[in-house]
Amino acid sequence: MPRDAAPPPPEYSDLVTKHLVWAQNRYRDLLSGQDTFQIAAGTPLVLSGQKDIAQYQASNDGGAEASLQELFLHDRVDRNSCRFIYIVLFVGTGPWPGGGGRPINGGLNTGGGIIILSADLLAKPNFQSTLRHELGHAFGLPHVDVYGYDMSTNPSLMSYNPVHHTRGFEDSPTPGVLIPEDLRALSRAKRIFPNFTINPARDYPPGYTQAPLVMLGPMQIGGQAEYGGPQIVE
Ligand SMILES: [Zn+2]
Repeated sequence: MPRDAAPPPPEYSDLVTKHLVWAQNRYRDLLSGQDTFQIAAGTPLVLSGQKDIAQYQASNDGGAEASLQELFLHDRVDRNSCRFIYIVLFVGTGPWPGGGGRPINGGLNTGGGIIILSADLLAKPNFQSTLRHELGHAFGLPHVDVYGYDMSTNPSLMSYNPVHHTRGFEDSPTPGVLIPEDLRALSRAKRIFPNFTINPARDYPPGYTQAPLVMLGPMQIGGQAEYGGPQIVE
């Protein structure tokens, strides 16, 4: 929360944790039960920000840069040593930020990531489907249009297909899935999913041709050197 904002209502902690565990289970299902991500903190951390809302809004990647600078200080890490994907819920900032996620160093398996959301989104029916989508970005997944697929009708959770929307804690009858491009990428995110491997017979439709995977770029973070490593860390 920005400087001088009121603390979040206590029920937010339970809501966030419940949603995160649900998303964790959903990813396990989508990865054929082989793996899912780990949840580091037992209870969400409430941090009083050092800046005003305007300063967060003006920072790179829609507030992600300023958030990371403070989280790195809190956890005594930098862009190379950070092993967390932070889920930042802004409290007291109204509907901003609408939602975003990315790996800190871009690519796949390059380290940590960040998701930024307005805490007000917790009151929206489709918070869960939004969280699954932003987690995908934080794991390194781009939108499906980079592969030539339609953003409004594709079955991937990395589209904006409205039929994926959850309603509170009720799933959509047609939830977003991981398409072969998503699965291929996540099979290379070994720090997050060490046990997930591609099984072409199971994961690819007949006749599937592998186009090159598209990588998200590294973040620009003031006070941190530019990321100079490879886009995929094997
Ligand atoms: Zn997106």
